[in-house]
Amino acid sequence: MKYLSKVRNIKARKLRRITLGALSACWFAVAQPAFGDDKVTYNPLNGKLHLPEVHVGDDLYEADLKREMIDGSMRFVLQKAELLSVPQGTGKVILRNAALVITADPKLGEGALGVIENGDVLFENDQIVKVGQNITDPDATVIDVTGKMVLPGFVDTHNHLWQSLIRGCGADKNVGGWIGECTATLKRPDIIDEKSAYATVRLSTLDVIATGVTTVVEWTHSYTPGWTNGSLRALEESGLRYVFAYYISVGGEQRIADIKCVKETVIDPNPVAYMQIGGHPTRSRIERLIVAADLAQELKVPLNVHLLENIEDRDDEPIKVLEDAGAFKPTLIVNHAVHLTDDEITFLAEKDVRVAHNPLSNMRLASGIMRFPDMHKAGMKIGLGLDGGTNDTSDMFATMKTAVGLQRALLLKADVSPTLEEILLAATMGGAQVLGMEDTIGSLTPGKQADIIVLKTDTVNFAPHWHPINQIVLNGRPSNVEYVFVNGRALKVKGKLLGVPEKEIVQAAEQAVQRIKDLLQQPEGEPEKLEVCSNGG
Ligand SMILES: [Zn+2]
Repeated sequence: MKYLSKVRNIKARKLRRITLGALSACWFAVAQPAFGDDKVTYNPLNGKLHLPEVHVGDDLYEADLKREMIDGSMRFVLQKAELLSVPQGTGKVILRNAALVITADPKLGEGALGVIENGDVLFENDQIVKVGQNITDPDATVIDVTGKMVLPGFVDTHNHLWQSLIRGCGADKNVGGWIGECTATLKRPDIIDEKSAYATVRLSTLDVIATGVTTVVEWTHSYTPGWTNGSLRALEESGLRYVFAYYISVGGEQRIADIKCVKETVIDPNPVAYMQIGGHPTRSRIERLIVAADLAQELKVPLNVHLLENIEDRDDEPIKVLEDAGAFKPTLIVNHAVHLTDDEITFLAEKDVRVAHNPLSNMRLASGIMRFPDMHKAGMKIGLGLDGGTNDTSDMFATMKTAVGLQRALLLKADVSPTLEEILLAATMGGAQVLGMEDTIGSLTPGKQADIIVLKTDTVNFAPHWHPINQIVLNGRPSNVEYVFVNGRALKVKGKLLGVPEKEIVQAAEQAVQRIKDLLQQPEGEPEKLEVCSNGG
């Protein structure tokens, strides 16, 4: 009875939309196993209707209804409705009775991963309150996670979300060839407008949430104001914890004003948004790098650069360029760092330079294999990155497995770093350390923000559970990610992205690609007239 009033709401407001017309009048005529929407199923023999997703207000339900004659008219009576959504960043929630809680905090449980068997996690609003066994709280919403695994959300330390625009491009090219074929032409000022940037970044945000990423670094090229605005709008809407690594690519003084304005008006007011400054360490563009390093210091945010991704990058002496530009003064994050010498590893470790490791991208672009074991041994902080279009899939499980596998294949040894345990830590706590956010995220330590994922593993790709922790890396897939919480807010529930018009977002990205393909056949046109930030800095 609890949901009866809500069922009437469903009938009145939503059910009609997803089925065929008014239900009562034509009910007996509808005798198909599925009608209106292929997810909605009706069994005419027993009169049962199953609705996998029904929105009632902000909540999402999975509901079973049964056809019954009431007061002379045919009605649907609710038999079962399960709340798929949970309080959106408000209230208390207990994740109860997980087979394993992998806290990534050795103080909380067994081993380096801090594992608790049959564990519970209590979070309130945006914060983790308690982790352990048999946690009770009469005020909490309980989500039964029996048989599942609970982990900190994955931290994606390097991405270019907009590159879903060029999926599949330049498949037989190395970095230089890929840039030439796939991204160079997109710098044309009439190409990426606000709508295209929004559509493609929004699509990618869904893809990274689906794989269990809770924090993403968007290293954005943003060659046009629309590119910046569309990207920010998509990130804000996504609910992800995000870092906007804003590349100083164009526009001198105006660009600096834009960056300051975005920080002030978009990033700082949002508790899950952060800023970094993007730069590029080449001799020919050292002036820009100096500006970027100075600005990062002024704003007290990290500087984020691509470093020695390809062997040819060495010709430019990028580490010397970074030194000359004063780039080691702010916190420095480098992406790739594939081709480091012994001395450079020692030097960068001494400078506390942090690394985003992108093994799938490095493999696809024939860039090489980062010296993970040596860099890890030298004490460098290493996180994992998906790296946009050249990762091809936003799959953190594949990225972890590849990081492990590449070293084994290279060194012809199976017991090399990273171990499965080390790579799970790199994907969570390691990523948080790279971003300087280790006090906020990266483990399930009480007091940290509630960025949590739940894995469902009684599935054909994962069960049975011989060594479930190893299996996260070896068997895991995005489809095993059952719940994703960012700052206590549910973004994925029961394997479904919450409250997202997925089809429309896919279609919008498809349209954006078509528009850009058409434009590239034409001479350069006028850029969209937009400003990045309303207060002008
Ligand atoms: Zn990159």
